[in-house]
Amino acid sequence: MKRITVFCGSSLGDKNNYAEQAYILGKALANQNIELVYGGAKVGLMGAVANGTLENGGYAIGIIPDFLQSAELAHENLNELIVVKSMHERKALMSNLSDGFIALPGGLGTLEEFFEMLTWAQLNLHYKPIALLNTNGFYTDLINLIKQMIEKGFVQQINLDLIIVSDNIDDILEKMKNYKPSKIRKWKVE
Ligand code: AMP
Repeated sequence: MKRITVFCGSSLGDKNNYAEQAYILGKALANQNIELVYGGAKVGLMGAVANGTLENGGYAIGIIPDFLQSAELAHENLNELIVVKSMHERKALMSNLSDGFIALPGGLGTLEEFFEMLTWAQLNLHYKPIALLNTNGFYTDLINLIKQMIEKGFVQQINLDLIIVSDNIDDILEKMKNYKPSKIRKWKVE
């Protein structure tokens, strides 16, 4: 894997280890020679993951829409800061540039980005691995909600199986590297 996109909160959250884990992920990417692609901000977990990469000799690419450049306080020390015109352009570029996606704890923006990549995968629009870093069990309720959707017949187990879930960064990176993409069917055809 050459590049991984990280989606994560533009806030720090209520526990120190969210930012610690974000930093450690950034550092792990640097150590494994994987470039970081992310939203380009210096605030919240976004800043922490970028600093983890930059302070450990890695390569960080930020992609930010022009109208968020000041609101999200663009990081000044990135190897590349790409300014785009819209959120759509940002996500499309993040998707095209990278070989996989990891979502860390975050808010509504993080969820939106994560689910777009997941729903594109279930439509076979890409075959790249998608992971959730489940720090402090942050995403356990979300996984349970998807399980409920399976029980109620709106989602198939193969769609949930697309998500690599772990609270361990090395485990996630290992599973992403070994990920074997396969064509899946969103709908059961009778
Ligand atoms: P948040 O998780 O809400 O702190 O946001 C994390 C990142 O998601 C930030 O860079 C936001 O700009 C971005 N974001 C927020 N809303 C959206 C959206 N509708 N589509 C794509 N990205 C978004």
